[in-house]
Amino acid sequence: MADRNTMKTYTKYLTLKTTKKIEIVNITSQVEEAVKESQIIEGLCLVNPMHITASVFINDEEEGLKEDFLKWLEKLVPDDIEKYKHNLTGEDNAYAHLRRTVMGREVVVAVTSGNLDFGPWEQIFYGEFDGQRQKRVLIKIIGE
Ligand code: ZN
Repeated sequence: MADRNTMKTYTKYLTLKTTKKIEIVNITSQVEEAVKESQIIEGLCLVNPMHITASVFINDEEEGLKEDFLKWLEKLVPDDIEKYKHNLTGEDNAYAHLRRTVMGREVVVAVTSGNLDFGPWEQIFYGEFDGQRQKRVLIKIIGE
């Protein structure tokens, strides 16, 4: 059983600013870097955006699939300003809030032997739906 005194925590904030308004960015190497910096060998790694119009999710690094995701989201949640009540407040990003919720807020990955313990094709992605401005992503690692 883990002794409370041996439990370590590590927190890091990534700052991302996408060049496009809607973009999927692979952030796996930045998360791996944080795991190394944490010096945690066995534990859990949480990654989440600190914004309600961006997602963090796990899937495959494949260009066609990333385009498929964006097309699917466009069909599911059209970028149509008049369509949404949220936009009556003067905002234009209702679609971004909805897509964020569809794609998920966060991921938790096991840390085993000092590495992210992925399945064979798993990669971590940042899904930006209202970009071209600075946003933060939280990485929190706990373990020993
Ligand atoms: Zn909004």
